[in-house]
Amino acid sequence: MSSDCIFCKIAAGDLPCKKVYEDGDLIAFHDIHPIAPVHFMIVPKEHLGSLADAHARHEMLLGRMLLLAPVLAKEQGLEDGFRTVINTGRGGGQEVMHLHMHVFGGGRPRTM
Ligand code: AMP
Ligand code: ZN
Repeated sequence: MSSDCIFCKIAAGDLPCKKVYEDGDLIAFHDIHPIAPVHFMIVPKEHLGSLADAHARHEMLLGRMLLLAPVLAKEQGLEDGFRTVINTGRGGGQEVMHLHMHVFGGGRPRTM
């Protein structure tokens, strides 16, 4: 755990969140500033600064994040599909330096 990391604090239960899912390795919660009618993120409990800090030993964890997305998206009412985004590093627009995958949808899809 990184002591000044907000997502570590949420994962530890020290900061509140609108929780969508939790198990031993992952937590998912709604984004505080949603950009779509449904917008949550899937976050590993282990502090990893970004996708660029992941190693081979994180293969299972990353796979579990991806496999969880469609399950939770469906539970949240995104029957038609959804978008996933992982911002990586300052150049990738990452603001919270703890790996997380955005899952959102329910509105008109934006073009990339
Ligand atoms: P990123 O640019 O990918 O690092 O996105 C960070 C996201 O975290 C933003 O969409 C914020 O709205 C969201 N966020 C920041 N603080 C919180 C919080 N305490 N609870 C939920 N979402 C948050
Ligand atoms: Zn962290």
